[in-house]
Amino acid sequence: MHDLIKQAAEDLVAAKYVVALTGAGISTESGIPPFRGKGGLWERFDPMEIAHIDAFMKDPAKVWNILVKEMKEIVDQAQPNDGHNGLVKLEKMNKLQTVITQNIDGLHQAAGNTDVIEFHGNFAWQRCMDCSKKYETREVDVSEIPPRCDCGGILRPNAVLFGEMIPSGALWRSRQVATDCDLMLVVGTSAVVQPAALMPVIAKQTGAKVVEINPERTPLTGEISDYLIKGKAGDVMNRIIEEMGKK
Ligand SMILES: [Zn+2]
Repeated sequence: MHDLIKQAAEDLVAAKYVVALTGAGISTESGIPPFRGKGGLWERFDPMEIAHIDAFMKDPAKVWNILVKEMKEIVDQAQPNDGHNGLVKLEKMNKLQTVITQNIDGLHQAAGNTDVIEFHGNFAWQRCMDCSKKYETREVDVSEIPPRCDCGGILRPNAVLFGEMIPSGALWRSRQVATDCDLMLVVGTSAVVQPAALMPVIAKQTGAKVVEINPERTPLTGEISDYLIKGKAGDVMNRIIEEMGKK
């Protein structure tokens, strides 16, 4: 384990262009439950009924009451953890250029990373379905459901719902940075869901090192990633950065 921390510190010091790909695992320590898997929201709810764009269009009040209010409570309170903060430290050391994330909690930006590509949009903001005006989620008054814009339009999460396209700009840019990087950190994601799953593959094919920080093996381990550092994102990030300080 310690050898791998050292290895990651050396690889980061040597790298010229570093990209991080993150998923739910980096935010669980901030109290954000994962959607998929054990304990995830989709164990309790059928996403097709409450997180599909058709369900929202049909009955926005229902989706707000069941899903959006609960997520708002969680996201309003969440603070970045050492995993997010570690990625900010790397950026400040000029050892991280871009974060690609599957998360919608906005915590990378809250922590201070400046270039964040979000595959699934962002739940930290709501937008009007009529005029597209954006409102910070924590400022939205939920005494009336569904909440409305000044113009009278209904507010919806600025996140990608089921049945909607991944924003094309996010897809293009992430392919680009995955191609250009010489080191990709995969943090807190098993990277089984497309299009995120493709990014480490592109990075690998175009000559980058792929370093995984995850609590368990994933389909990337031993196939795409050069090595896996097993552990919690925050703890591992702290140790890598400490090791980099010794260089
Ligand atoms: Zn509006």
